[in-house]
Amino acid sequence: MNRQNYHSNEANQYYMSVSQFKSAMKCEASFVAELKGEFIRPSSTALIVGSYTHAAFESEQVFTQFCEKHHDSIFKSRGGKYADFEQAERMIETLKNDRFAMFALEGEKEVIFTGELFGVPWKIKVDSIHHDRKSFSDLKTTQSLYKRYWSEKYNKYVSFVEAYDYVLQMAIYREIIYQNTGQYYDPYLVVVTKETPPDKEILEFEIPDFDFEFEYVKIMLPSIIEAKSSRKEPVRCEKCEYCRMTKQLTKTIKVGYLLE
Ligand SMILES: [Zn+2]
Repeated sequence: MNRQNYHSNEANQYYMSVSQFKSAMKCEASFVAELKGEFIRPSSTALIVGSYTHAAFESEQVFTQFCEKHHDSIFKSRGGKYADFEQAERMIETLKNDRFAMFALEGEKEVIFTGELFGVPWKIKVDSIHHDRKSFSDLKTTQSLYKRYWSEKYNKYVSFVEAYDYVLQMAIYREIIYQNTGQYYDPYLVVVTKETPPDKEILEFEIPDFDFEFEYVKIMLPSIIEAKSSRKEPVRCEKCEYCRMTKQLTKTIKVGYLLE
């Protein structure tokens, strides 16, 4: 597998990935429909802004190519960039002006590994990996470092790190890297916020916390794999974009069910 076919349909069919797992946890039906090409999630500005920020730290060449490809999304016809990209620019500058953040982002960029977890093949793409330091890092943008999110998974208020399953992501990445190198690498998140001016932090993890994430994946994965391989009807969440688009009413529901 390479960068060209990493996101291809064939690769997504064969391999499990953290983003597939997260998407299936939100809604199996939407996940399967997307995998089959029956549902295309509209590409959001937030997604392009995220890729723009990543490209800026990958290489001069990648960034230039990205800006050319997405020229009309980034640049206004009368000159200057759209507000979201002006903000991304401030976030990029914030990290570039911080020596420790730049140190943490050093290493090989966008490196692909494959491995096996819980009986199925997985693929990962690491933002930045440093073999001499035995560390890897992922660049994340978020609204605020201190925002609280209610989590059904953890059954408590959590930070954006748990809310977006970044602990789970780091646990799986660390394991797949181990399968490829024979060494456990230290994971870090380099975070920059969308605030004005942007805040930033480099986060490290408590490795014992990863056990809970592996347990969680182990419990949830079989149903996802069955749905993915069409061995069962995928579960509909009845709330997401895909479910709302394909919803057919067959019965009435009681008022009290709405908030359950
Ligand atoms: Zn749904």
